[in-house]
Amino acid sequence: MAVELDKQDSWIKDRIKIEEIVKYQDKGKDFIPEEEIVSKLELNLKKEPDSLKIKDILSKSLSIQTLTPDETAALLNVKDKKLLEEMKRTALEVKKKVYDNRIVTFAPLYLNNLCVNNCVYCGFRRDNKNIKRKILSLEEVKKEIEVLAGGIGHKRLIVVYGEAPETGIEYIRKTIETIYEVKVKTKKGWGQIRRVNVNAPSLSIEELKILHKAGIGTYQVFQETYHHNTYARVHPEGTIKNNYQWRLYCMHRAFEAGIDDVGIGVLFGLYDWKFEVMGLLYHAREMERMFNVGPHTVSFPRLEPAFHAPFTQNSGYKVCDEDFKRLITVIRLAIPYTGMIITARENARMRREAILLGCTQTDASTRIGIGAYSERYDEQEEKRQQFLLGDTRSIDEVIREFAQMGYITSFCTAGYRCGRTGECIMELLKTGKEGKFCKLNAVLTFREWLDDFAGEETKAIAEKILNKEIEEIKQNIPDIFPTFIGYYERIKQGERDLYF
Ligand code: SF4
Repeated sequence: MAVELDKQDSWIKDRIKIEEIVKYQDKGKDFIPEEEIVSKLELNLKKEPDSLKIKDILSKSLSIQTLTPDETAALLNVKDKKLLEEMKRTALEVKKKVYDNRIVTFAPLYLNNLCVNNCVYCGFRRDNKNIKRKILSLEEVKKEIEVLAGGIGHKRLIVVYGEAPETGIEYIRKTIETIYEVKVKTKKGWGQIRRVNVNAPSLSIEELKILHKAGIGTYQVFQETYHHNTYARVHPEGTIKNNYQWRLYCMHRAFEAGIDDVGIGVLFGLYDWKFEVMGLLYHAREMERMFNVGPHTVSFPRLEPAFHAPFTQNSGYKVCDEDFKRLITVIRLAIPYTGMIITARENARMRREAILLGCTQTDASTRIGIGAYSERYDEQEEKRQQFLLGDTRSIDEVIREFAQMGYITSFCTAGYRCGRTGECIMELLKTGKEGKFCKLNAVLTFREWLDDFAGEETKAIAEKILNKEIEEIKQNIPDIFPTFIGYYERIKQGERDLYF
């Protein structure tokens, strides 16, 4: 399976295209001005920001405008309990304004765990000789999808790839095509993955064009840490990932390649969390400045224990639950239009709380071992996983809980298939208009899932939410209601994939 070492070395050497970094830089500098960030944080640390100023900032968030670095630094340093509560309330209000009471659900699918990088926090790193290595064949990918789309009912995936010559862009392309091809019979209709989001290494413009052609949803790459020295320390020299700039500018290359739907993120726990939130903000603002489009999603995984990765236990910057909730709140307020992803890394309690702070997407029935869905093993296997999960509940349990909390789970994948991406979706999100399409599609896709996959208890609870949503559509969008209800009835009869 492994390619010879010298071939691997030359593959690594050719990966980074310097000209695809420097063309975006400003006089050789990147857009993360560390000294400026530190001084803004320190300035606000010295004196508690006054409450009138904070209230003004919150009104700006509520009008769905991206905050400035100074405003974000002020929010990060609020200590007054009452103000903190007001920030949390506003964060949820912002979320409701943009995304209403919908939670989008997806599943991660790890395709391989070969990697030439050596990130000190990762179980898949090259020098970890204790991990079981595996690349899924196309046949094995199909089997995974049969379970995901036909057994669990997912419509949306995030596919995850390590970085290795054996799983380069051709492998990525073929696996995505295979995923889209699988169609499975279900109780009343059929199941299929309709949106493949991709978490892949930093790619060149040429490779990103191939990815774009494969019809992906979001291209997701996390900077892991925006702090330059920390970045160098946790991504050892001689690896591709060691190059901070190659990773930092991958979204610029994505836009140039035609991909205008991207997700950014930080692995919280590598460096000071306030600095990292500022890094995310600067990244979002740079994208808005250059392309008029901010990140479609922001992710904020916390460092978790990983097999034979002792760094994960002693990083020195672990983020406690209270700070984690604060950083979620500030991200929601600072980049108010963005989708926010809370994953099954976190336990059920934290996921519930994160939803109430404005998160919009989450996974369920999650398995992150390679081949873990079709093998149907229930125990977590640390030798096959990048890290250990905090929440292994089934999708049925998660959806039931959301319904009890008053949330509707959406399996909608219509946006990118109707061209609602990039500048178009930004405008719709900022003006709250995207919600109109989303509400309709959330109800239609939820109906599909309930009829095909839900347990009786979940169904009974969820029907109440559905009826309420249908009534709201009738009242608020009367012109579209007749078409909508026609689609809804057809879905009840077994038709699938009708959307606005
Ligand atoms: S974090 Fe990603 S790049 Fe780093 S070793 Fe793990 S799989 Fe490879």
